[in-house]
Amino acid sequence: MEKINNITLLDKNFELLISEEEINSKITELARDISKDYTNSSNPPIIIGVMNGSLLFLSDLIRKLTINVELATIRISSYVGTTAGVIRELSDLGINISGRDIIIVDDIVDTGNSMDYLINRLSSESPASIRTCALFIKPSKFTKKFTIDYTAFQIDDKFIVGYGLDYNQLGRNLSQIYTLIE
Ligand code: 5GP
Ligand code: MG
Repeated sequence: MEKINNITLLDKNFELLISEEEINSKITELARDISKDYTNSSNPPIIIGVMNGSLLFLSDLIRKLTINVELATIRISSYVGTTAGVIRELSDLGINISGRDIIIVDDIVDTGNSMDYLINRLSSESPASIRTCALFIKPSKFTKKFTIDYTAFQIDDKFIVGYGLDYNQLGRNLSQIYTLIE
């Protein structure tokens, strides 16, 4: 898709916030950190991508890892339009994670509700460890206590789209990050 500075999705206008190059270099750093931390693990960690938002991030991140990993996905939904709602689990994990090292990969931690829900939900299946990875965090909105072990960008409390993140299901295929023009 052409790289443009302003886009329209349905009734809303967005402007460029983070370029493809910036995203790429931050993911390279994240992949290096994760590879280093798990290089001596006896079992490959299981990367659990939270669909659909983490899809592009997940696929770029795992290709840059220099360790063996297993891959799983889980589908939850928490957003309607631009407002956070109730978390719904839309798919099952489908694998046994007991005794395994888990890295949950999501697009963005906003209030932290979704990640908190996933940590509790996956903890009940007795993994050896759980770490969290999110491309973006919004520190001013964060209300939970868990640690975000791996993150690339801290952003202001603004709604963003692109690179997996949607506005009413649109914009996920954009290769850069755009922010809502209020
Ligand atoms: P939380 O549960 O932390 O409040 O929100 C997490 C989920 O809400 C994210 O995984 C993401 O799907 C969605 N979300 C939060 N902030 C944004 C945003 O600025 N833009 C988009 N498109 N989705 C967001
Ligand atoms: Mg999400």
